[in-house]
Amino acid sequence: MDHDYHLETLAMAFDGPESGETGDVVVPIHLTTTHEMEAPGESAHGYKYARFGNPTREALERRLARLTGADHAVACASGTAAIAATCLATVESGDRVVAFDGVYGGTRLLFEDLLVDSLGATVEYVDATDPANVEQAVTDDTSLVWMESPTNPLLQLCDLSTVADAAASVDATYVMDNTFATPYFQRPLERGADVVVHSTTKYLNGHSDSLGGAVVTDDGELADAVGHALAYELGSPLPPFDCYLVGRGLRTFPLRMDRHEHNAAAVAEYLADHPAVGQVNYPGLESHPQHDLAREQMDGYGAVVSFELDATDAETRAVIEELDVFTLAVSLGGTESLVDHPTTMSASYLSAEGRAAAGISDSLVRLAVGIEHEADLIADLDRALSKL
Ligand code: PLP
Repeated sequence: MDHDYHLETLAMAFDGPESGETGDVVVPIHLTTTHEMEAPGESAHGYKYARFGNPTREALERRLARLTGADHAVACASGTAAIAATCLATVESGDRVVAFDGVYGGTRLLFEDLLVDSLGATVEYVDATDPANVEQAVTDDTSLVWMESPTNPLLQLCDLSTVADAAASVDATYVMDNTFATPYFQRPLERGADVVVHSTTKYLNGHSDSLGGAVVTDDGELADAVGHALAYELGSPLPPFDCYLVGRGLRTFPLRMDRHEHNAAAVAEYLADHPAVGQVNYPGLESHPQHDLAREQMDGYGAVVSFELDATDAETRAVIEELDVFTLAVSLGGTESLVDHPTTMSASYLSAEGRAAAGISDSLVRLAVGIEHEADLIADLDRALSKL
């Protein structure tokens, strides 16, 4: 399939193995871990061992590359494996990394353990909502610039193109974790990013039943280096059944995103008008401090909404427990709506001081808005908030 088709069409593309001769319209799940060779060291089909290559995985990689607007994708066993493989392929001992201070907490833990403690690199976290901070932080030693936009859980943005210029000025690899926005709402490679990382666990698979990740880039050498790190150092490619699940999820991905966003906008507007609710963090709201930037660089605003309650920690927990349609669980991107209390759940690994520094208060609530009927979501919130 051609790059010029619309995303909705690309999402449907079969992209099966070229050699498929049975007319399948769904990619078969190749479970074999090893492949018979014709003679010692000779294999006409090109496959040897599943950690190095698997037809189901390659079909998914072609599709993820096209959906992201790139030539290469590497499918990994989790978003975290995708982040680790990218780090191993781009950072050496003594290098500097510049990262958005709002990056996903797991990314920060990985940076500290792998890049700082094991590799001896330094990581400088900057408030990238102001691009001048990124411009000032990059130096000739900077090998990697790591951004996420919007961030988790405060939905902060960075200016994608300005960061690209800053990274290019020192020849650093610029990676965008596009998990929240997805290729449906944001195209970082078109704005100068070198690499896009997805946690496919979230919207791309979309059904909360598969952990996965992907590294996508136009740079063939970099893709090879990431693939090498994944196969030989981490040993964690995406298993064939998960490749099948993500491929299946992708078929409805654009449809789901429309509905996710429609519901999230309705929920954000409802919350913004509620007297018990303080700040609502959603880039689609005009009150979001970076709404103009969101309008300029995104094609939609996604479906994660966080907000502050005018309430104590205990009252906040009571409201959350009162919810019925929103399930109390971490993660996001599945069809069902979830509610998270970052202090005790997704950000609980941080110390109280760490959470305060990251702007995460005890009365912050994060919603991953699903594709149910919007009226039921709002009625659920209304009932729970009336307990305050
Ligand atoms: N990136 C972001 C923005 C995330 O929110 C997450 C997980 O929540 C990850 C990466 C890690 O993905 P995974 O849980 O698939 O390892």
